[in-house]
Amino acid sequence: MIKSIKKIAVMTSGGDAPGMNAAIRSVVRTCAYYQIECIGIYRGYQGMIEADFVTMTARSVNNIIHKGGTILKSARSKEFRTAEGRKKAHANLIKHNIDALVVIGGDGSFTGSVVFNNEYGFPAVGIPGTIDNDIYGTSHTLGYDTALNTAMDAIDKIRDTASSHNRLFFVEVMGRDAGFIALNVGVGAGAEEILIPEEDLGLERMLESLKKSKSSGKSSSIVVVAEGDKSGKNVYQLANYVEENMDEYEVRVSVLGHMQRGGSPSCFDRVLASRLGVKAVELLLEGKTNLMVGLQNNEVIATDLEKAIKGNNDIDMELLRVSDIMTT
Ligand code: ATP
Repeated sequence: MIKSIKKIAVMTSGGDAPGMNAAIRSVVRTCAYYQIECIGIYRGYQGMIEADFVTMTARSVNNIIHKGGTILKSARSKEFRTAEGRKKAHANLIKHNIDALVVIGGDGSFTGSVVFNNEYGFPAVGIPGTIDNDIYGTSHTLGYDTALNTAMDAIDKIRDTASSHNRLFFVEVMGRDAGFIALNVGVGAGAEEILIPEEDLGLERMLESLKKSKSSGKSSSIVVVAEGDKSGKNVYQLANYVEENMDEYEVRVSVLGHMQRGGSPSCFDRVLASRLGVKAVELLLEGKTNLMVGLQNNEVIATDLEKAIKGNNDIDMELLRVSDIMTT
């Protein structure tokens, strides 16, 4: 028989992402709505090992929906990767009468949850929180939309300098091995070229395209580069390469970095977080486990956690074609 769920714990784990606070708020308030207890775990799995817990009520999450980062803090825990660490974590959950977990994080955090569930059969549901959008089973991860808008605003500003000085800017955006941010921000900011890990078009093609853009009368150019691009050169080497092969432009580099992970979540991310938090708690109350909640065709759906970890979220190649046409 499925044990009835009376107390749910929520935590944020791995890299922080805008919208995590909105998701914590949603989990806490959904628990309050169903009149079950809710515990916040500080610093992800490390806090679970150290019993760094706090009781959360509907009022504990006042005024956080608009805040970036995570009020529960996040951490990467080496100790949780060991059987000994997980044993301590399990003992703490049992001691505090916690029946189930909501894990807000990326694929590493979900892997931890699957390992834990295999060992202890501990019910858990994941909410995908990462700006990279590299998780299968959801069209959008929490924080991705905000990161897109943050990066796009930054590139708009860089464009002002680029066009005032006839410069070519290489702008590196985040995304690890996924080109979602680069491709969408590139199209949204009107970049002349977009370099993503999923499609290596070669350096020659980039030079040709930049030359074409110059001769068509453009005074400035922006090349958006995903941090995991596979051209074999980092963004500084790419800039040097272009400068050596094209004397038409003065070349500059801007690496946007961690500013893309911060800031107030967009309306889209706040709404997504609210929807996913409700579904995560409701699935646990229905006795379901080892699932990730996500968005597909604007519907909240559940995907097997292992599938979410192993599957690939494919990039929209049509968008590359659109980008090509836009640079005419
Ligand atoms: P991001 O996408 O921002 O990197 P993430 O959730 O993928 O977020 P990770 O650092 O990969 O971040 O994972 C978070 C934590 O999950 C790890 O610090 C570790 O405690 C736990 N974890 C990851 N993989 C495992 C594993 N194989 N076994 C046990 N725990 C794990």
